[in-house]
Amino acid sequence: MSRVELRGVTYAFGELRAVDRVDLLVPQGSLTAVLGPSGCGKTTLLRLVAGFLSPQAGTISFDDRVVAGPGTSTPPQQRRVGYVPQEGALFPHLDVAANIGFGLPKAQRGSDRVAEMLDLVELPRSYADRAPHELSGGQQQRVALARALAPAPTVVLLDEPFSSLDASLRVSTGRAVTHALRATGTTAVLVTHDQDEALSLADQVAVMRRGLLVQADRPRDLYRTPADAEVAQFVGGAAILHATVKAGVAHCALGDAPVHGTVADGEVDVVIRPEQVTITPGRTGARVGDVSFYGHDAAVRLDLLPHGPSLVARVPGLAAPEPGTEVGVGVAGSVFVLRA
Ligand code: ATP
Repeated sequence: MSRVELRGVTYAFGELRAVDRVDLLVPQGSLTAVLGPSGCGKTTLLRLVAGFLSPQAGTISFDDRVVAGPGTSTPPQQRRVGYVPQEGALFPHLDVAANIGFGLPKAQRGSDRVAEMLDLVELPRSYADRAPHELSGGQQQRVALARALAPAPTVVLLDEPFSSLDASLRVSTGRAVTHALRATGTTAVLVTHDQDEALSLADQVAVMRRGLLVQADRPRDLYRTPADAEVAQFVGGAAILHATVKAGVAHCALGDAPVHGTVADGEVDVVIRPEQVTITPGRTGARVGDVSFYGHDAAVRLDLLPHGPSLVARVPGLAAPEPGTEVGVGVAGSVFVLRA
């Protein structure tokens, strides 16, 4: 297992810089999720690490070994990278055992290694003789991971591996996959556009936007201290409100809240998360717009009176007010001040 390091990595398709001067460190044995909207360059980044593309500038290293850099590019097969694509990764004419054994030396193919890999991804050993079409989508993705892990790769790259699965299967498969990665201490990079997946599964989340890597942090730090307003809104949703800070307290349209960290007095923008917005029935302050009811909670759109702005509150489902009513609003907990 290796640490993976990118420095100044750039790749352009013609005029379009799909990956633009990206610096990223993936510590040994950890899982980094690369998160971003469609077209931001995630897959291109993964293909550069795998060696399917060579950077036009910058270097990629596995530990102290430069695998891509000026005048040098180690071919994919010599990088010893395991790759798990979106779907359809398994050879349809081979059974599960043959699929898992595919990358192993011949001598090991009939060995305990296949059974060990099935245990690791939490599939019964009896599945070894099944054909891929006899497995559910989630089971197929577990086999794809088992195949990627079997030869003990230097790093495993996962390209939206759960995107074809339905919501509940996505959660259980994601958990099984990260469990297997952690159990083997594998260094891994997971590409996703799903923020819940990134925040819940990864040790580090790297947010990409238009080819740039804008922030790489632990999930909690990314959520608590976003690099800018776009990251705040993209990861978890947020209202950005103007506020005046005085003696560590922000005065904004929702009321007063202590600021997170040390902030000098002055005019600032603060990040307010939907779950921080409090609602008090029978008071005035905001008009309730659309309410999306999810059971465990609800997203309530609020137009602050008299002239906005509009923001979203997340409240327990059964506490959601009726659309069209007026409610009092406030803010709970400390707020984060955006760097200018
Ligand atoms: P998605 O989540 O939709 O897969 P992504 O973040 O993985 O998107 P990439 O596939 O890396 O994004 O693409 C980044 C940019 O590069 C996009 O604007 C895309 O249109 C462009 N691009 C990707 N592959 C090529 C190619 N072979 N030729 C030209 N442009 C390309």
